[in-house]
Amino acid sequence: MSDAPKKTWHGIPREEIPWFPTVDAEACIGCQLCYVTCGRGVYEMREGAAVATEAMECVVGCSTCGNICPTGAISFPKLDTIWKLERERQIFRTVKKEALGKQHREQAQKERHEAVSTAAMAPTRARVEIAGEFGDKRFLVRLENLIEGEPFDIVGLRLEVPTLKGARQKAPSYMSFEVTSERQEDVRPFVEKVKALTQEAGLVLVSATPIA
Ligand code: SF4
Ligand code: SF4
Repeated sequence: MSDAPKKTWHGIPREEIPWFPTVDAEACIGCQLCYVTCGRGVYEMREGAAVATEAMECVVGCSTCGNICPTGAISFPKLDTIWKLERERQIFRTVKKEALGKQHREQAQKERHEAVSTAAMAPTRARVEIAGEFGDKRFLVRLENLIEGEPFDIVGLRLEVPTLKGARQKAPSYMSFEVTSERQEDVRPFVEKVKALTQEAGLVLVSATPIA
């Protein structure tokens, strides 16, 4: 005996719903259109004619194959059959729950898509420019400490000192570098840490621009 759960249509066991195609073998010309069209595998072709061998796989309310059969060989019960069942078996409480479940699934799927596309669009590099007097602030050491254990690195670092004498006299210098992610992660949270460090060190953040 199979343990597979019984198929239902909005709470009604599928085998209790008399909705399926009936083929008039005399009228069938064996064109196979119903066989190739039905996505539920309801039909087999036997001796040149269509036979609905898996009738209970038919989608309740669907009549596509009947509509397209060139000889009108396929018929279905009257739609009243379904309307009566809908009323008598009070399916709409179940439908309401199903609709809520569907809305939740769609919302969750939308959020997953958004998270994936946000991650895909997140910048993994940023260019940072800082100005100020770097001399006795040990800023480079603090930067080194900041990247310790982080999946980010600082590359292409340049420190432009206007003149050596000027640097001695504490004239402002200019530093630029790129922050890169080693694992293609969003670099922006780390850039925020660099900004905070710059502020703490009394330097001026000229720019911190993510690079797409
Ligand atoms: S579409 Fe109609 S004629 Fe063609 S195989 Fe199916 S039942 Fe027969
Ligand atoms: S009515 Fe729709 S689901 Fe049912 S047999 Fe035809 S094509 Fe398949």
